Amino acid sequence: MKPQVLIVSGFAGSGKGTVFKIASTLFPKLKLSVSMTTRAPRPGEIDGVHYYFVTKEEFLKTLSANGFFEHTEYCGNYYGTPKKQFFQMVEEGFTPVLEIETDGALQAMKELDSYASVFLSPPDFKTLEERLRGRGTETEQSILRRLSTAKEELELIREYQHLIVNYNGRSEDAAKAIAQIAETGESDSSVIIRDKEAFIENFLK
Ligand code: 5GP
Repeated sequence: MKPQVLIVSGFAGSGKGTVFKIASTLFPKLKLSVSMTTRAPRPGEIDGVHYYFVTKEEFLKTLSANGFFEHTEYCGNYYGTPKKQFFQMVEEGFTPVLEIETDGALQAMKELDSYASVFLSPPDFKTLEERLRGRGTETEQSILRRLSTAKEELELIREYQHLIVNYNGRSEDAAKAIAQIAETGESDSSVIIRDKEAFIENFLK
């Protein structure tokens, strides 16, 4: 069945940004929902494009006005999907992409009737750590916190319909699989892991 919304989660460092960029050229109806966050912008991030960067007070004001479709606290910062913008995308016939962490994704899954959910992962923990360090935008403390959060999130992979591995040098394939899933609800790509239990068991080895 054609999904109305695409939920994509992945560990920090899974390459969600790159993969989404390619996927949206393959299936132009995909439109990224821009989240609100209290995290400080990284170099190169633009307000209103990557996130709406707000103060904690502004975030809590939106929250108390019931302005979020879902929201969470992640590694010490608040993140949320602005409700109005999200429903407007659905009304306009786009397939909104919620690029959100697992807690928010579980909230969204409960709320939505028609969605596809994808968990995007690097092949293993070692690659995850290399990518996070390679990005060079994070403090050591933030890296360690994100790695430990990833260990907790691992178990939640089971809750997603599709597990896709973003292998080094194969972002195109991951993007193709995501575009197919957004368009048709399924894909037979080889980057989709069918045996989630084995993947979870081997990820940290
Ligand atoms: P980052 O700080 O690296 O941009 O994002 C940290 C985590 O927060 C990522 O897993 C990202 O997908 C997630 N995230 C971004 N926006 C939202 C949001 O609106 N809601 C939720 N629940 N998570 C979000």
